[in-house]
Amino acid sequence: DADIAMYQAKARGRNNIQFFHPDMLESVRERARITAELRTAVAGGELALCYQPVVELGTGTVIGFEALLRWHHPVRGLIMPDSFIRIAEETGLILEVGRWVLHEGVAQLRRWSATEPELTDFCLHINLSAVELLRSDLLEDVTETLARNHVAPQRLVLEITESVLMSKGTAEEQVLGELRDLGVGLQIDDFGTGYSSISYLRTLPADTVKVDRSLIQDMVSDPQQQKFVAAILQLIHSAGLKAIVEGIETAEQAALLQTLGCLYGQGYFYDRPLPPETVMGRLKRRAHRQ
Ligand code: C2E
Ligand code: MG
Ligand code: MG
Ligand code: MG
Repeated sequence: DADIAMYQAKARGRNNIQFFHPDMLESVRERARITAELRTAVAGGELALCYQPVVELGTGTVIGFEALLRWHHPVRGLIMPDSFIRIAEETGLILEVGRWVLHEGVAQLRRWSATEPELTDFCLHINLSAVELLRSDLLEDVTETLARNHVAPQRLVLEITESVLMSKGTAEEQVLGELRDLGVGLQIDDFGTGYSSISYLRTLPADTVKVDRSLIQDMVSDPQQQKFVAAILQLIHSAGLKAIVEGIETAEQAALLQTLGCLYGQGYFYDRPLPPETVMGRLKRRAHRQ
């Protein structure tokens, strides 16, 4: 605790006398507690995945599901990933968490196939943190997990945030190449929030780009922003990549995005993240809100 507090105090500047500020100490304690409890959560069966559809905007047809992590804490109830993923990344616990997500997500895909053998025409998207790309057994684990569950590599899409790919070294580059050779889909997540450069888009080791929610939030009432989103979509398409827009919450946004040439999206307007038992039912419904 003291080390972390010292580090944070230093980060705030040498002349800043905040070392024992009660709020800060509380948050340091909170972090330590989350770390300790998350360590046991994986083995204790407290983690769960829900699945948010990725849809074809025109028809509402589901083309994939993104696995999103939930932590059902025995005392504190439901904890969302934004409250623990960063801490898990900083402590390295994310490796264990990520391993569980991969195994559970792919196993779920196999369970769905067992009940609905005809419905296999969709992908499973899994979020991968930067550090996970440096996990030495990642390629082997992905390969074996898919084989064990009889799932084709083409049905798995790994979502990696833009910032990772911008700062990637040769180790990350190599593992991305190997995953790609395996046949797994690679997708840039949260595009538009990092430091995207135009020339960089052309050399991305990816086939899909997910445009961040923040870019479309005020689009309907802001013509300037509409032009900006249109340009970004054009850029992605002209680089030969598929664009998915996330965070679509209204019919107006959905309609506008289609006029801008966007084919795929995700958001509360279409579907919230769903519990696994309702996923097959959703897949059978072609259009949303029939
Ligand atoms: P993300 O990968 O960008 O996922 C999208 C987030 O936006 C999800 O939040 C989703 O529930 C939410 N969302 C979807 N549609 C809408 C909408 O229309 N409006 C709004 N306001 N939000 C929408 P969630 O589930 O809380 O996850 C937050 C982040 O946590 C994810 O962002 C991802 O970066 C991370 N995460 C979640 N699961 C995992 C995981 O298994 N592994 C890793 N490494 N990170 C994960
Ligand atoms: Mg994602
Ligand atoms: Mg995102
Ligand atoms: Mg995100």
